[in-house]
Amino acid sequence: MSIQDTLQALDHLYTLFTCLTHLLSTDSKPPIAIIGAGFSGLACAQLLTKASFKPVIYESRNRTGGRVYTVPFSDGTADLGASWIHGRGPGAFDMQQWEGQENPIYQIARENGVETVKTWEGDREIEKQKLSWYRGGKVPYTHIHSLMIEMEDYLEDLQEDEDPILNGKSVEELLRAKFLSENPTQDDLDIFGFIMSYRWGQDYGADVSKFSARWQEVDAIFQGSEDIVPKGMCQITKILERGLDIRLGQAVRKIDFSGNGVKVQIGDGQEEIVDKVVVSVPLGVLKARTINFEPELPENFRQSLSRLGSGVLDKLILRFTHCFWDHSLDWLNYIAPSDTPYIWTQTLNYCKFTGKPILIMFNCEQSAHHFATYTDEQLIESAFDVLGKTFPEVNAKEHLVEYIRTNWTQDPNAQMCYTYLGKEASPKDCETLGKPVNGKVYFAGEHTSFEFIGTVNAAYISGMKAGEKVIGEYVQSLYALACCIAMISTIY
Ligand SMILES: Cc1cc2nc3c(=O)[nH]c(=O)nc-3n(C[C@H](O)[C@H](O)[C@H](O)COP(=O)(O)OP(=O)(O)OC[C@H]3O[C@@H](n4cnc5c(N)ncnc54)[C@H](O)[C@@H]3O)c2cc1C
Repeated sequence: MSIQDTLQALDHLYTLFTCLTHLLSTDSKPPIAIIGAGFSGLACAQLLTKASFKPVIYESRNRTGGRVYTVPFSDGTADLGASWIHGRGPGAFDMQQWEGQENPIYQIARENGVETVKTWEGDREIEKQKLSWYRGGKVPYTHIHSLMIEMEDYLEDLQEDEDPILNGKSVEELLRAKFLSENPTQDDLDIFGFIMSYRWGQDYGADVSKFSARWQEVDAIFQGSEDIVPKGMCQITKILERGLDIRLGQAVRKIDFSGNGVKVQIGDGQEEIVDKVVVSVPLGVLKARTINFEPELPENFRQSLSRLGSGVLDKLILRFTHCFWDHSLDWLNYIAPSDTPYIWTQTLNYCKFTGKPILIMFNCEQSAHHFATYTDEQLIESAFDVLGKTFPEVNAKEHLVEYIRTNWTQDPNAQMCYTYLGKEASPKDCETLGKPVNGKVYFAGEHTSFEFIGTVNAAYISGMKAGEKVIGEYVQSLYALACCIAMISTIY
C-alpha cells in the first residue's frame, strides 16, 4: 500500500475515530510527544496532525532539520549535512511500496517549487575525474574504475549466492583477501585504500573495516537523477515543519514509561506527561545514552543498537575568488598514502552545478575522526597540501575567500552522520530499533529503516511509519472499545 493510500485509509478511519472519541471523552486528542525535529520527527508529526492529533515536538537544538542543516555562506548557502536527494525516482528493485513511485522528498521539492539540479545519474558511470596521487599519478583512473567494478561484482555475486564466506566479514577484510596479493606493491596498497574510501567509505560514511560485506548496498534505491538543492535543503525542512508545534532548545533527558502514561523529562527537570512518545533522535545519541529510559529498553533493542555502526562524513567547503580548475570535472580525487587514514579522497567541483567557485572536500570515517581534533588552521593546511598536489601550477590558498568545516562527531545532538550495518548486523536490527516498546514508546529515524538507510528518504519514511503505528494503536484500542460497547449493548 502506498503512503497516499495509507493516508486516505487513515483519513477515513480517523473520521470514525474523531467522532467516537468525541462521544466517549472530553479530550479527543491524546497528548503525544515527538523527540527531535529532524526529517523523521517532522514527517511523523505531519502524519499525526493530518489524523487530527496535536503532537508536540521537543528539539534540543535551537533549530529544526537535524542532520539537514543549511547555513549562509558567501553570497548564498551551504549544506553542512545532507545535500543530495538520492534519485528522483522511480523506486527500484523489490520495493513493494516504492516500486515505480517518485522519491517522496523529490516530490515535496517539485510540488513546492524548490529548485533542484541534477548532478549525475547511475552509480556505474565514470563521472569526469581528475586524479592526483601523493607520489605523482602513474595509473590511469580507468584502471582503478575497472578494479572497483570487479570488486563490486565479486561482492554482488557472493550476496546473490548467499555465500557463507560473507558472514561476520567486513567489506575490507573480504576484498583484501581476494584482491591483494601476499606481497602487494606500494601502488596496489594505495589503490586498494583509495577504492575502499572512495567507493564504500564515502558513500556510506562507513568504517570499511567494520562495514558488513553481507549487507553493503542491498538497501533499496530510487533510480534516476541525483539532485542537489542549490538554495539549501532547509527549504524542505521549512515545508515539513509548517503548522507544527515545535519547542526548540528542549533537550530530553529522561523518558519514564514505567507507570501510567509516559513522563518526558526535559532539560533542567521540567516534566511533561503524555500518552505516547516518538523518539526520533539519531543512532549516535541513542548509543551514547544521552536519554535515560525508565525502565531500560529491552535487551534485543540494546544489542541491535550496538551492532549498527554510526558513520561519519565531514565536509570542508572552500570558496575561491574564481574557478581555477577545469569547470567540466565532477570530482577531484586524491590517492593518499596507504598508511594514513584515506584522507581527502574526494573533492566535489560544486562550480559545475552552481557556477560558483566552490570546492567541497570530504573526509569519511577514519579520516574524519583523524581530523576531528585538528584546529581550522591545521585542517586547511592539510587540505591545501593536497590541492597543491592536484594543481601544482596554482597557489590555491591565495585565491581562498571563505571556508566552513563540519565536525559532526563533536556535535552532541548527532555524534554521527549516517547509519551502516556492522559486521554482525542485519536489516532485522533496523527493524528492532523501529519496534514500539510497551505500546507507549515509538521510534523513528533513518537508522530504523533499512530501506534507503542513512538518507533523508529513510528518515522521512521512518517518521511516516512510526506515525502509522501510533495511529494504528489507537484505532485498535478504539476497535476493542467499540466491540465492548457492542457486546454490552447486546447484553442489555
Ligand atoms: C554530512 C552529512 C551529509 C549527508 N548527506 C546526505 C545526502 O546527501 N543525502 C541524504 O539523503 N542524506 C544525507 N545525509 C543523511 C541525512 O542527513 C540523515 O539520514 C537524515 O537527515 C536523518 O534524519 P533523522 O530525522 O533520522 O535524524 P536527525 O536529522 O539527526 O534528527 C534528529 C533530531 O533529534 C534531535 N535531538 C537529539 N538529541 C535530542 C534530545 N536529547 N532531545 C531532543 N532532541 C534531540 C537532534 O537535534 C535532531 O534535530 C547526510 C548527513 C550528514 C551529516
